[in-house]
Parts: sequence; structure tokens; C-alpha cells
Amino acid sequence: MTKTAEQIAESHVFEADVARLLHMMVHSVYSDRDVFLRELISNAADACEKLRYEAIETPLLLGADAENRITLTLDEDNRQLVVEDNGIGMSRDEMIEALGTIARSGTRVFMERIEANKAAEGAQLIGQFGVGFYSCFMVAERVDVISRRAGTQEAWTWTSDGKGSYSVSPETTLTVAPSRGTRIVLHLMEDAKQYTSRWTVERIVKEQSGHVPVAIRLVEKPG
Ligand code: ADP
Ligand code: MG
Repeated sequence: MTKTAEQIAESHVFEADVARLLHMMVHSVYSDRDVFLRELISNAADACEKLRYEAIETPLLLGADAENRITLTLDEDNRQLVVEDNGIGMSRDEMIEALGTIARSGTRVFMERIEANKAAEGAQLIGQFGVGFYSCFMVAERVDVISRRAGTQEAWTWTSDGKGSYSVSPETTLTVAPSRGTRIVLHLMEDAKQYTSRWTVERIVKEQSGHVPVAIRLVEKPG
């Protein structure tokens, strides 16, 4: 019998520092939540840059899809915002490493500052440091990351509610996984539904991601 993705989903616990960071982010003042989009777009642009770099040695990685792009899909009816890129993507092991631990020194400094200040300047610090991927849990009650690494066949789905654990499973539904790169589906909190509004998203992209060297496309999912 073939196993379904559900049956072979593996559950993992976040590294202690990640759990602390997530808890702090969700409980800090929400005045600067907009920064999550800048962080996701900057990761998407980094992924496109990494692909271009690896493609110097391995041009096959680009295939017929040589034009890098970032697509933001607004789905008001399902209260979802999707950020997708056709960059380098992540393997299963890369996902677990990148989205379950804190490897960057910047984040550690940030955590120390937050702890020293007892979150008084929390919102401001989040804006300053960005704190990357994990900031999407300020606006999303669940996040799905579906990724296929350039040059590989298999795709993986990482999913979490940001409350201590995440799970990883193979993505076998072809229509769900991007042919290359990463799709991040934010299941928005009730009080974050404004991030499906074209007006709001356009404003944030203009304010915070104007310098990004990859084309950003906005798509409204028809209801
Ligand atoms: P940083 O960008 O500073 O490394 P982040 O928290 O923003 O930190 O992201 C953590 C890591 O997750 C990235 O370094 C990268 O390895 C991985 N990652 C996040 N988003 C993507 C993406 N869209 N494509 C490929 N890898 C990604
Ligand atoms: Mg980043």
C-alpha cells in the first residue's frame, strides 16, 4: 500500500531559541507587523540570487524558466497571502535546518536585546532586525512552506502554527508544489486580513521592498 503524505509527515520540535523568539514575536506589540512581508520578499530575492549563482556552474538548473520572479497572490475569500519565488528552493534537510533553528548571529543579538529590555522596544526592534522568516507568525496562524530545490524531483511541505513544533512531509500533489523554488502560504489571523488587500500589499511593497532586484508580481485570486 502506498502511504499518503499525511501518514509520513514527521513532527519536529523547534530549537529552544526559535520557540522563545516565536513566543516573543507573537506577544510583542503589533505596531510594526508589516515587516513580515519585507522579510519574505527579501528571502525570495536571496533565493533567486542563489540560483543565479549556482547556475553559473550548472546552467541546467535554470532550464526553460530563466526569468526570476516573485509572485504575491492575494486570496481574500480564504484569508491567505501567498509569497512564491522560482529561486533555488530548499531540500528537506535544508528546510529543517533553515526553518527550525537559528543560525544567524543577528537573531541572537536581537534576542539578547529584547530580553534585556523586557520587550519594551520589541516592536521597534523587530522592525530594525526584521528577524527574518519567523516574523510571518506575527500575522499568520499557520504557515505552509512548499519547496522544490532547483534540479531535484522531490518537493517538500513544511507546516507550523508557530507554537513549538512543525512537520515536514513529501509533497506529492504536483499542482501544489512549484516546479522550482518556494511557495509560502500564510493562513492569516482574523485581525490580519488586511494583508489580502491589494492596496495594503502594494503600499508595503513600495515602502519596504522598492530596491529588490527581482520583479514582483501581484495576483488577486478571483473569489
Ligand atoms: P536570513 O535570510 O537572514 O538567512 P531568515 O530567517 O529570513 O534568515 O531565513 C532563514 C533561512 O531560510 C534562509 O537563510 C534560507 O536558507 C531559508 N529560506 C527562507 N526563505 C526561503 C526561500 N524563499 N527560498 C529558499 N530558502 C529560503
Ligand atoms: Mg531573510
